[in-house]
Amino acid sequence: MYTIDLSGKTAVVFGIANQRSIGWSIAKILSDAGAEIVAVYQNERVKEPVLKLTSELPNVSMIECDVSDDKNVESAFSQINSISGKVDIVVHSIAFAQKEDLGGRFVDTEREGFRIALDISAYSLVSITRHASELMTEGGNIITMSFMAAEKVFPGYNVMSTAKAALENEVRQLANDLGPDGIRVNAISAGPLDTLSSRVISGYRDMKKAHLERAPMKRNITHDEVASTALYLCSDMSSGVTGEVVHVDTGYHVMGI
Ligand code: NAD
Repeated sequence: MYTIDLSGKTAVVFGIANQRSIGWSIAKILSDAGAEIVAVYQNERVKEPVLKLTSELPNVSMIECDVSDDKNVESAFSQINSISGKVDIVVHSIAFAQKEDLGGRFVDTEREGFRIALDISAYSLVSITRHASELMTEGGNIITMSFMAAEKVFPGYNVMSTAKAALENEVRQLANDLGPDGIRVNAISAGPLDTLSSRVISGYRDMKKAHLERAPMKRNITHDEVASTALYLCSDMSSGVTGEVVHVDTGYHVMGI
């Protein structure tokens, strides 16, 4: 029987804000598999809830990092180096766009809103990967979170679709850069899940309903289904997989109507 044992591995999880965060579901499953967790939270605003959640985990540290400034990312990895001396797994579960850019017509997106969404939601994977890879001395796994709006139009998702398309392209380029070092980079393209971020997207309810009615499995996905795919991608069970976008969407992406 094949079991996943991540004992002795350090997993750095970016993007836990509350108990509904996809990052939290992934942190829990990686911890259950034996990994030491470094939970990276954005700022003071989310510190308390994250502290409360992570206190459930046996082997955890917390670090603050707002990824909009590269100095913060550099400092975060320097702190991680002091705590663990190495990194094996990175979970990038971060996205942000201004509320006004998540509804209405995409054509009305202004330069600053476009810059912010692409900077936080897509560029951050590049800077995080650069710093993390320096500490991945024994190879490693990096995963990020995408959505099918990278491929097809989802009205309301707007500039975040552009950010996800950039993110998926980054996954392929980073996989190529880091493959020779034994570092794999993959994305999960998840179906709609109720979280802080998804609730601000105009059209989110329609997306969820469309998945429920039209996906081959005729239901929505669960947080646990995303987490178990993340566990697979962060383990040797997926040792030949890199540069991939794995859809966890009850099959919605295969449908033409
Ligand atoms: P969430 O709001 O719980 O997580 C988003 C996280 O991004 C938060 O922890 C927030 O603090 C962090 N963040 C935002 N700006 C940041 C910054 N400047 N610096 C550091 N951290 C910052 O929502 P979620 O749905 O769990 O989102 C996680 C990821 O999953 C996102 O990339 C999202 O696009 C993706 N995703 C979500 C869904 C869904 O339906 N919920 C579907 C597919 C993909």
